[in-house]
Amino acid sequence: MSEFHAVPRVIDSHVHLYPDEINRAPIAWAAAHGEEPWARMCARRRKDGQPVQGFPAVDELLLTMDRAGVERAVLLGWYWLRAENCALQNRFFADLVRRHPDRLSAFAAVQPAAGADQAVAELRRARVEGLCGIGELSPHAQGYAMDGAEFSAVLACAAEFNWPINLHVTDARGPIYPGRIETPREEFVRLARAWSNVTLVLAHWGGGEPLGDATTVEFERVFYDTAASPLLYDATMWRRFINKVGADRVWFGSDFPLNNYPASEAEPEMARMLAEVEAAGLSAAEKEAIFCVNAARGIGVNV
Ligand SMILES: [Zn+2]
Repeated sequence: MSEFHAVPRVIDSHVHLYPDEINRAPIAWAAAHGEEPWARMCARRRKDGQPVQGFPAVDELLLTMDRAGVERAVLLGWYWLRAENCALQNRFFADLVRRHPDRLSAFAAVQPAAGADQAVAELRRARVEGLCGIGELSPHAQGYAMDGAEFSAVLACAAEFNWPINLHVTDARGPIYPGRIETPREEFVRLARAWSNVTLVLAHWGGGEPLGDATTVEFERVFYDTAASPLLYDATMWRRFINKVGADRVWFGSDFPLNNYPASEAEPEMARMLAEVEAAGLSAAEKEAIFCVNAARGIGVNV
């Protein structure tokens, strides 16, 4: 049993999962439901024709987690353009967290551009149904201002519920890929300053650089997830980034079912990224923080 305690429990804080009706025919579904940008990103293929994104059902996700030793996944919706697609995603997640409370947590999808009242009503419903955060959102892709009234209503909700918000951030210096959107860094700095009472989780290492000094009050609730790190950065990123912000600011997240190693792995999976962290020279305490403690605290689960 002592061996068990030496291994940190793992929460994967950045996992995407879609309802069957989307999985069955993602491109056709997107065309019929006004979500073409999502399809451009998710349905792309490698040069050899293999998809870079899988569309697993929940049983396959749970098996992948079991194989990698991931205890819990935080399911993120998508930055859907239409409110009704957010609702579809959230009802799907509500059912999953009811069926698998020990393995799955889920964040709500929301489209503030469809109107503040509608967005807030959707979040209140999602909260009653057992969801525990908001995201992944992308104001730039969804078409609303980060300092506008609609998004402010969503941020006020997050503050009231004590919910984290996961935001997509693109590295301005990073690779060009289909569906890439620019996310100006100053806007995230202003957001963190204006909403220092809200936990912000900036995806993909926050675009590769911390927003500011992690010890200052205005950035105290800014966290960074590691989603898609192997696609964007080499394995030295773990040590380098944690040296800058401290291990207590980083949430481990894979971006499963995105294939993080498309050159060498046929299918998306989780274990290899965990092995990359194991080899990154982090202390046991640092690993415990990024794998488990930080996200557990953020989403309000006991570990
Ligand atoms: Zn993501």
